[in-house]
Amino acid sequence: GWAGRLRDLRPRCCRCSAELGWLPSPLLHPPPPHSGAAAGAASVPAAPTACETPSPLTIPGGTRQSPINIQWRDSVYDPFLKPLKISYDPTTCLHIWNNGYSFLVEFDDSTDRSTIVGGPLENQYRLKQFHFHWGAINDWGSEHTVDCKFYPAELHLVHWNAVEYPSFEEAVMEGNGLAVIGVFLKLGARHEGLQTLVDALPAVRHKDTVIEFDVFDPSCLIPSCPDYWTYAGSLTTPPLTESVTWIIKKKPIEVDEDQLEAFRTLLFTSHGEEERRMVDNFRPLQPLMNRTVRSSFRPQLGP
Ligand SMILES: [Zn+2]
Repeated sequence: GWAGRLRDLRPRCCRCSAELGWLPSPLLHPPPPHSGAAAGAASVPAAPTACETPSPLTIPGGTRQSPINIQWRDSVYDPFLKPLKISYDPTTCLHIWNNGYSFLVEFDDSTDRSTIVGGPLENQYRLKQFHFHWGAINDWGSEHTVDCKFYPAELHLVHWNAVEYPSFEEAVMEGNGLAVIGVFLKLGARHEGLQTLVDALPAVRHKDTVIEFDVFDPSCLIPSCPDYWTYAGSLTTPPLTESVTWIIKKKPIEVDEDQLEAFRTLLFTSHGEEERRMVDNFRPLQPLMNRTVRSSFRPQLGP
């Protein structure tokens, strides 16, 4: 049943096997110390790569956990993968909620007004919410990595299979229940679409605060380049169920330093608690195991 599965999936510390809290605590798993800085340049640390992070949390019995490192040359081009069709109705946007781990922008999913179809999916999926993961500094923060490289942040747009399941809660427990689009954020030009969200963040600085946020089209946060990778995985936060078809966009979007800093002004903590900044809210990499990452695009020649 539900409770039993939750217990089985509870993460353990990769170093000491202690059972971790309900939410994976980034404080127990700080990013790795810098290494290899040249003598005389010690104040300019080398950026760590994902492959230097501690071994992943292990999930007993888990065979399709997320996130993973996407090794470009190991992904397999699948000419039968269709383009992903995204159709969002901006008026289905409802509110922004600081849930103590990220901020969630939630949508009305009672009808098929904001959906995705195509790509690797056999059904139409409804948009439920989107959120981000980010680091304390720009050298890490994404959950997935590409060739062991972190991006400073990653966007997740979470959809559920309303053709086969009656509710999001039921879809979460099924192998084809969810479809999540992942978009990497990289440092560059200011993103005007994202700025609308950034301007609203001070109002949800504390855990458990919610504000109305009606009318927003998240397709402005998805790169127009159609290329993506796809693989079968899991949620990266409890209940960590293996219910997600991941669709990871190859091309990142650009955001500027101020916008990433605005994410870092949010708090894990509620009003009245000692303030803890909301940073490093990503899960460590998980083993690929017996899985193939497929790409919608032909392999490229290059380094
Ligand atoms: Zn996420």
